[in-house]
Order: sequence, then structure tokens, then C-alpha cells
Amino acid sequence: MSEATCTSAGTAPADYREGVSAPATDAIDARAAHADGVERLLASYRALPATATVRLAKPTSNLFRSRDRVEARGLDTSGLTQVIAVDAEARTADVGGMCTFEDLVAATLPHGLAPLVVPQLKTITLGGAVTGLGIESTSFRNGLPHESVLELDILTGAGEIVTASPTEHADLFRAFPNSYGTLGYAVRLRIELEPVEPFVALTHLRFHAIADLIAAMDRIVETGALDDGTRVDYLDGVVFSAEESYLCVGVQTAASGPTSDYTGQRIFYRSIQHAEGATHDRLTIHDYLWRWDTDWFWCSQAFGAQHPLVRRL
Ligand SMILES: Cc1cc2nc3c(=O)[nH]c(=O)nc-3n(C[C@H](O)[C@H](O)[C@H](O)COP(=O)(O)OP(=O)(O)OC[C@H]3O[C@@H](n4cnc5c(N)ncnc54)[C@H](O)[C@@H]3O)c2cc1C
Repeated sequence: MSEATCTSAGTAPADYREGVSAPATDAIDARAAHADGVERLLASYRALPATATVRLAKPTSNLFRSRDRVEARGLDTSGLTQVIAVDAEARTADVGGMCTFEDLVAATLPHGLAPLVVPQLKTITLGGAVTGLGIESTSFRNGLPHESVLELDILTGAGEIVTASPTEHADLFRAFPNSYGTLGYAVRLRIELEPVEPFVALTHLRFHAIADLIAAMDRIVETGALDDGTRVDYLDGVVFSAEESYLCVGVQTAASGPTSDYTGQRIFYRSIQHAEGATHDRLTIHDYLWRWDTDWFWCSQAFGAQHPLVRRL
């Protein structure tokens, strides 16, 4: 694999490329660091008593169900949180299983590339999204996160690391999505990436009946375009009530211009509300991908975090 840096960033502005470092030594270092992380994972697995419950010691999680307290130490995943390499020519990334989408996107955007499906919370990991499934505003054209996995290394219950792909351990490869760790843990994943433009132009379409929203959504999914023929790259459906719902349609664009910022005082979900017809907005691709993260969709309200004074802190 050639670890090129900016080969596909043709339309991206210069600041897109900030942080892209010289590839050769960094790539070797990243691979060595990953190999070291795998060794630490295996050592922690071998150190478990034979009867111990096996679980991951992850710094982040999006599981909210209560879990039994487990005395045994979790597996050491500390060395599996990195992006190992981005191959801008092949449009693929090799990624540690516990790498968050925040870190993954930060590594791919400087190349003008993004994962095919980016979940809306920064702390979701690639391994978690693939094994727990996920869905996003590109899913109508790119499917679910596991559908862009080309191959993955899995720690199995036998304490071995196996590489699974459509041709190698193909049964494990097919069964892994939605297995929630029961078939093993993803240690490294190679995923496809897609080119992205620096900005997303948004149109928020108001509906007064859910049936009308569904009909419009079906047409977009079928044709990949709005009724006027405009290509659709991103598609969210947001329902406030039976009488108030929206389709938030995004189109990638390289055209520069003013952009909105919903990481401070302004709140994204409120920005889409209006009485009738369509409104328009623009975000950088980075802010588009994380549009729901600042306010955890709308859940931040429950913690008082939508109050203007609290937001200033
Ligand atoms: C509030 C909320 C919002 C969400 N929003 C979105 C969204 O916008 N888009 C979306 O696609 N999904 C969303 N999800 C679903 C989320 O993608 C899944 O819950 C995903 O499994 C969480 O991944 P995680 O990395 O946080 O894993 P965890 O929460 O830590 O673990 C989830 C499960 O996956 C297993 N697991 C974790 N890592 C691995 C691994 N490397 N290999 C094997 N098994 C592993 C764990 O054992 C556990 O069973 C949301 C979930 C919540 C609770």
C-alpha cells in the first residue's frame, strides 16, 4: 500500500491539508505502534484467569444499559485507538479497532476523503459502529458502516488474531456485523473512503404530514436527487411532531462562501425549524459531519446545556 498524502485532495483548499505529515517514517511508526498495541492486547488476554469474563477496557462507550460489575480487568485496548495509515490513492484507511470517528475523520479530511458512513457522535469507534451497526445520512447511498469494510483483524475467543475478508475466513467476515463482540473484537479494519468537497450546502424541507415526508424521502432514495434534479449527497429525516417534520438534504460543494457555526451559541436542530417550504444553510464538511454532536442531537437540553449562559462557559 502506498501511503501517499494529498493525492486526491485536488479541490480542497489549502487549510484542508494542514496537519498532513510526511508519510514514510510516520507510516512505519504508526504500523509499529499498532503492532505493539496488538501485543499489549494479547498479553492482557493471556493474563486473564481462564474463567474470567472477557471485556474491553475502552475509554469511551455509547452503551447505556446497566451492566453487571465485573472484577476482572478489561483487555488493554490503549494501543488500538489510532489511524494506522491513509492510502489516498486507493481511497482506503487502515484503522485501529478502537479508533474514534473523531480521530478517523481528522486523519482523512486533510486528504479530501471521508469514511463512507460517519456516525453522528465523535466518540463512536469504528469497531463499535461495525459490530454494533450504525446508520447515517449517507446510508441511503453507501449502506451501513460494515459495508465499507474491506478486511479486518479479529481477536477470537481462542486468543488468536485472524484476518477476515470476503475471501479469507469469509464466514466470520459476513457474521461479524451486529455481533456486539460475541465473535471476537475488531483490532484493525481496512475501510473504503470517498472523496468529499470542503463544504456542504443544506436545504431543509418542511413537511406537515409524515406520509408526505416519507414519499419525498422514497423519491430521493430511488433517484439520488431532488424533484428538480439536484443531486443529493446527504439525507436526514427529523420529526418534531406529526405535523412538523423535515428532510435535511445536503449537497457537497467546493464553492466558497459564508458558513454557519453550531459549536457555540447556535443550536443545529433548532436551525432547521421553519413554518413553510425550504430554508438553506452551509457548513464546512467537518462541521456538517459533527452537526449533531455538540448538542448530542437535542439531548443537551436535559443537562441545561442549551441555556445561552451555560453555552458561554
Ligand atoms: C445516543 C446514541 C446515539 C447514537 N448515534 C448514532 C449515530 O448517529 N449513528 C450511528 O451509526 N450509530 C449511532 N449510535 C449507535 C452506535 O453506533 C452503536 O451503539 C455502536 O456500537 C457504539 O460504538 P462504541 O464504539 O461506542 O462501542 P461501545 O458502546 O463501547 O460498545 C458497543 C458494543 O460493541 C462492542 N464492541 C465495541 N468495540 C468493538 C470492537 N472493536 N470489536 C468488537 N466489538 C466491539 C462492545 O463489546 C459492545 O457490545 C448511537 C448510539 C447512542 C447510544
